[in-house]
Amino acid sequence: MNKSRIYMDYNATAPLLPVARAAMSDALDLPGNPSSVHAEGRAARAVVNTARRQVAALCGADAAGVIFTSGATEAAATVLTPHFKMGKADLAIGHLYVSAVEHPCVLNGGRFDADHVTKLEVDENGVVDLEGLRNHLTTHDQSIGLPMVAIQLANNETGVLQPVTEAAQITKEHGGILVVDAVQAAGRLPIDMGDLGADFLLLSSHKMGGPKGVGAVICAGEVMMPLPLIPGGGQEKGHRSGTENPAAIAGFGAAAAFVSTDLAARSDGIRQMRDELEAGILACAPDCIIHGAESPRLVNTTFFSLPGLKAETAQIAFDLEGVAVSAGSACSSGKVGPSHVLAAMGQDADLGGIRVSIGAESTQGEIRRFLEVFAKINEKREKNRQENGALV
Ligand code: PLP
Repeated sequence: MNKSRIYMDYNATAPLLPVARAAMSDALDLPGNPSSVHAEGRAARAVVNTARRQVAALCGADAAGVIFTSGATEAAATVLTPHFKMGKADLAIGHLYVSAVEHPCVLNGGRFDADHVTKLEVDENGVVDLEGLRNHLTTHDQSIGLPMVAIQLANNETGVLQPVTEAAQITKEHGGILVVDAVQAAGRLPIDMGDLGADFLLLSSHKMGGPKGVGAVICAGEVMMPLPLIPGGGQEKGHRSGTENPAAIAGFGAAAAFVSTDLAARSDGIRQMRDELEAGILACAPDCIIHGAESPRLVNTTFFSLPGLKAETAQIAFDLEGVAVSAGSACSSGKVGPSHVLAAMGQDADLGGIRVSIGAESTQGEIRRFLEVFAKINEKREKNRQENGALV
């Protein structure tokens, strides 16, 4: 990475960990196809299966439940479907209930028709309304199929954590299936799939220091399974066809193993830096709004709005000063639009929010530099407001 720049966009993607790079490099030299039965094939298969165990261990799951995909977006499209199998029998899922602050890959409902998707409201802190969920599930028409609920563990913009265990209980009481997007939480919080009560977890390698373009669906069991999104040669026990990418999978596994160790100590260090950053922001700009600050949040994320200053304008100013942050969630290149997360929280979505997300490689020097740049940008904002009160 360019050392003169400061990278504070870990929720968009985290820098590749050296252990992941090494695992990928070793796997790239393996000539075999993981499905081949000869020694070369078995060696590639062994790499994939080691990673399967590492990824499962990260979330207290069984390795047999891991299906590797091209990322969390594909993982979501795989699981969010009205068409399931229970053994050999068809199993219909009638309706999908998603929190209004989900990542777009979940919010768009996967393979459900739009009229079979309902958004669940969140409060001003971005926390899903569990009573609303209960009411929807109570009136759910079971004759069209089971209900499916999708709620993320942590939000990519605010870092706010959702009450997933409680949501799981309500979902189970109504015979539903719970899908949990754990993309932003994995490697940042301890996760135990059994404790959460999730039927399926969605994971992405590149948010935890693995390579981009690989992720997984983690299944709590194999009794109820979605019809494959990608049928074909039958890889991943028929749940996701296509030759596996052993290098990417090995990098994912190595990253998962790395972030599982010393998680508490790393989190404490990150939390300290994040708290310092927020204290500095508020000391400089007391009218700054830190979204979700009243809720349990990821320790690495700060999402704030500055009255009178559009988030995109601030983001460009930070970038010009060598600091990489996001305006809202910047998952698709160049996409700038009102944040649906802020809108769902009843905040000014047009003004937008600036997301700062850090990681274990961040330093206090970087926090200090961020605050210097922040002060400069804030000074311009103050000046502009005094002169014309308009948005810059
Ligand atoms: N879910 C969340 C919460 C995310 O933040 C992202 C990416 O930003 C995704 C899903 C999609 O992950 P992927 O890039 O692996 O498709």
